[in-house]
Amino acid sequence: MLQFDKLSLNIPDTQKPRIVVIGGGFGGMNMVKSLRNAGMQIVLFDKQNYNGFWPLLYQVATAGLEPDAIAEPFRKMFDDVEDFHYRMVRVSKIDPATKTVTTLIGDLKYDYLVIATGSKSNYFGNKQIEQYSFPLKTIPEALNVRSQFLQCFEQASVTTDPAERESLLTFVIAGAGPTGVEMAGSLAEMRKHVLPADYPGLDFSQMKIYVVEGLGKVLPPMSEEAGNDAKRYLDDLGVIVKLNTLVDNYDGQTVTLKGGEQIRSQTLVWAAGVTGAMIEGIPSEVVERGRILVDPISRIQGLTDVFAIGDIALMKLEKWPKGHPGVAQPAIQQAEHLAKNLQRMRKGEQPTPFDYFDKGSLAIVGRSRAVADLPGNIHLGGFIAWMSWLFVHIFYLVGFRSKLIVFSNWMYRLFTYQRGTRIIIRPFVRKDDKVGQEMLERNEAV
Ligand SMILES: Cc1cc2nc3c(=O)[nH]c(=O)nc-3n(C[C@H](O)[C@H](O)[C@H](O)COP(=O)(O)OP(=O)(O)OC[C@H]3O[C@@H](n4cnc5c(N)ncnc54)[C@H](O)[C@@H]3O)c2cc1C
Repeated sequence: MLQFDKLSLNIPDTQKPRIVVIGGGFGGMNMVKSLRNAGMQIVLFDKQNYNGFWPLLYQVATAGLEPDAIAEPFRKMFDDVEDFHYRMVRVSKIDPATKTVTTLIGDLKYDYLVIATGSKSNYFGNKQIEQYSFPLKTIPEALNVRSQFLQCFEQASVTTDPAERESLLTFVIAGAGPTGVEMAGSLAEMRKHVLPADYPGLDFSQMKIYVVEGLGKVLPPMSEEAGNDAKRYLDDLGVIVKLNTLVDNYDGQTVTLKGGEQIRSQTLVWAAGVTGAMIEGIPSEVVERGRILVDPISRIQGLTDVFAIGDIALMKLEKWPKGHPGVAQPAIQQAEHLAKNLQRMRKGEQPTPFDYFDKGSLAIVGRSRAVADLPGNIHLGGFIAWMSWLFVHIFYLVGFRSKLIVFSNWMYRLFTYQRGTRIIIRPFVRKDDKVGQEMLERNEAV
């Protein structure tokens, strides 16, 4: 039995103002970075001990990168920040009235609180989809997907049942946003360049990749041109795209689409929706569509000294009536802006309102093709967009080590068409998962 009463947050008392940051993702990490010389005690709580670069998570899932290439531990990242304290805990509750944050191992008082907890997968209340589909929001989830893909190929290479083989070689991705599109493109490239050599006994013309999207276009958050180009690239790669189609249910064996069509598949990847990773204690009147309403200085409406940034925050401005898009740039820019405002406020100066600079969006579709929407209504496609995608992702990756690993991996793949990480390190076994159970039993029996 766990004995939480023997644990303590162990944060030293301080005369300085204490800022507590919950979540060290794009928002929280930049918050800490921007406050490093602000003369405050900085406490970061995150349930995982690293910052993850989620735009490349799909490459971990499709055996393109090892997980540590896209993650940087907080303790290493901030080892030079004075009076910085990281604790690996989940914050369960906040109490703005007493200025207290609660975790399983203790409470902590704050002077300023920044909520940067990001988002989590949204299954729109469908428990069966939640139970059987594969989400892609964290590194363990990406490793689950990678194991599942590889286990499906292994099982397909030994089954004698053609119907089972077909369902093992059918992959359905729900959601044609950047994650769904990038994942489908990457899987299609594997089918073309990698898998036939690995599994010479399998006929990969039988392998099917579906992308199912509820809206009428691919890459809904991007321009019409980007959506059309991405759709064309997916068609060229042999990905079956179903638009204006919703996934209605999934029982681990069969994906049922709204309208009744059924696809037999052992793998449904869920990239169809997210909602804010909410924390207890936020007044319900400031929660809208799973996000927390904040004013133009990121302060939670109606609260003092409590702020929210990134995916969890809903800042409705004239230019952004529905809030900012749930991507990395708003989180980064809000963090940097809030850090400056906090310093202004501590000097008794007026804070300035946040103004988002939209640097554009990018999505990659397989090898050497991408789409980009840039400021000024400029749209790029094909190889130039792909080069921009490579440059931007290397630029924003955290730490020289990660940049070097990712760059050398990509160059290796560009010239050899290979992927180095097709390894099942931790077999994925879902409850009543036939593939995983059979594989485990077979291996145990040897
Ligand atoms: C697969 C994927 C692909 C993406 N691709 C792109 C892309 O190509 N381009 C782009 O701009 N954006 C992309 N995004 C979106 C982008 O990653 C998010 O918009 C961004 O991460 C938001 O930053 P954040 O700081 O709000 O949250 P996050 O970066 O998600 O960080 C939240 C942190 O809070 C922690 N946390 C949550 N709850 C608690 C709690 N209760 N207690 C303690 N810690 C907690 C989490 O562990 C996490 O570290 C992608 C996201 C995903 C999942």
